[in-house]
Amino acid sequence: MAMTVTGDVPKGKTVVKNIGLMLSGDLAQPILAADCLVAIDGRIDSFGKEADLNTAGADTLIDANGTTLAPGLIDSHVHPVFGDWTPRQSQFNWIDSFLHGGVTTMISAGEVHLPGRPKDIVGLKALAVTAQRAFDNMRPAGVKVHAGAPVIEKGMVEEDFAEMAKNGVRLLGEVGLGGVKQGEEAKQMVAWARKYGIQSTIHTGGPSIPGSGLIDKDVVLEADADVIGHINGGHTALPLDQIRCLCEDCTRAVEIVHNGNELAALFAMRTTMELGQAERIILGTDSPAGSGVQPLGILRMIAMLSSIGEVPAEIAICFATGNTARMRDLDVGLIEEGRAADFVIMDKAQHTAGTTILESIRMGDVPGVGMVITDGVVRCGRSRNTPPAESLPEIVS
Ligand SMILES: [Zn+2]
Repeated sequence: MAMTVTGDVPKGKTVVKNIGLMLSGDLAQPILAADCLVAIDGRIDSFGKEADLNTAGADTLIDANGTTLAPGLIDSHVHPVFGDWTPRQSQFNWIDSFLHGGVTTMISAGEVHLPGRPKDIVGLKALAVTAQRAFDNMRPAGVKVHAGAPVIEKGMVEEDFAEMAKNGVRLLGEVGLGGVKQGEEAKQMVAWARKYGIQSTIHTGGPSIPGSGLIDKDVVLEADADVIGHINGGHTALPLDQIRCLCEDCTRAVEIVHNGNELAALFAMRTTMELGQAERIILGTDSPAGSGVQPLGILRMIAMLSSIGEVPAEIAICFATGNTARMRDLDVGLIEEGRAADFVIMDKAQHTAGTTILESIRMGDVPGVGMVITDGVVRCGRSRNTPPAESLPEIVS
């Protein structure tokens, strides 16, 4: 699929009608009493009962045929490089494949797989600015990739963070992937980043691949990054008692990833929910990685946490939509007036044992994606990657 230019949002009115189930992405009210949604110029204009909405004059009219509309999924933890190419497993079009898994927004945790990645301070800053510009200028398959996440190294000073922020850098790559691995040093740099509006995430757990290192709970708590990156390890998790401390002793985002330890994932989710802090839970894949590229990774996490973790599917979907949007201050992820019109339209997979899409996810099955929309524009129809959906939306006009 072609790259799309950022900011190139076609003007016009998109109407989706006959929505069987509308999921909000909001833990407070995950299911909306609505069967129709109107987007204008790429933003949600209104939603509710079709009879109450102004649906006239649609430039694009979609009949959902009774299927489910949810906010597009957000992958909170990816490692892009440039364009729709990753050297990690020598793949092209991996982001397009994620679109077919319902993902409309990705957040870089560092462009760490760039061959010859610079580790000197001038070089790492230049790479961050370049990656931020490149993905801001061009969206593979229409997916919004927030990139330009430098991996901090020893010797950086406050001015480096101020300079990067001034030049458009909004994220830090995983703290701990570079030379900064001590709590005190990380804490200072995370604080400088925060001062200039740069959000931070920290690697949690054992080394991911040869060359990366252990970050234990004491370092995570001292560094105080905004996101406890892959709390369930990437892959090797901390002991569960350390994960409990991370959930209990701070209020930062609890990021659970596909390419981590599943037992630790379930433990982190349950512990956070028992604390009454479900809004902290966000999902990522941590791919591309040694374990590959997972186009359905976010859907699989939702099904795993819902089924084995015994959480209603509509709640698990909030972990990958509204929770992440709020935690990361994005204008997507929730069905709310004024937010970006980024949606995934799904139905239960053919031959699932579940009688509804929510029941099928609760039973551990991945739903079938029928259409993905960003900025009110249809980016793909029936997914080439999910199991086939029982019913499909169609473009009427
Ligand atoms: Zn990591």
